[in-house]
Amino acid sequence: MIVVVSGPGGVGKSTVVAELLRRHPDMHRSISVTTRAPRPGELDGVDYRFVTEEQFTDWIDKGLFAEYADVRGHHYATLKSSLESVRPQEILVLTIDIHGGPSIKHLFPGALLIFLKPPDVMELERRLEFRGSETPEEIAGRIELGQYEMTCAKDYDYVVTNRDLETTVDIVDGIIRSVLRR
Ligand code: 5GP
Repeated sequence: MIVVVSGPGGVGKSTVVAELLRRHPDMHRSISVTTRAPRPGELDGVDYRFVTEEQFTDWIDKGLFAEYADVRGHHYATLKSSLESVRPQEILVLTIDIHGGPSIKHLFPGALLIFLKPPDVMELERRLEFRGSETPEEIAGRIELGQYEMTCAKDYDYVVTNRDLETTVDIVDGIIRSVLRR
């Protein structure tokens, strides 16, 4: 089963998914393609497949992507090949931006879409500041974007409020298991 975990930037998608995968070795993560540069500690083929703009455009032209999007000036995409090979009892988790979920569901109707939302906008602001990788202007832009992103929750199967990591991971895991049992 394909599971998409999405939500506004800074909501904690990556942390939730990392903890989910740490607890459940039977789940694994889809590796996206991106044109952004690796951050310290990130590895090609582990965190992302880091490619050039030319390679990204070429792969769009060749129809290799299930979906692709621009996020803050960089390109991100999910390879069709990583989704086509998923077996029914296998759990493949995609951590992608809010527009990605509906595109994946369009191609793979059995995909489960989970939207993480912050308890409130102030909390989102605090998390972005805490992360420390953005300037105040970027943070303001991210918050405005976050308010828009919340309107996309309606396109998802489940909306989970990320109050604390442990509870969110339990809820997300519970949703995945119950859908899998159907
Ligand atoms: P970051 O650069 O911080 O790793 O990710 C930036 C944003 O891009 C995050 O919201 C992340 O979920 C999103 N993203 C990562 N991979 C993909 C992808 O394959 N498709 C889409 N649509 N968004 C992605």
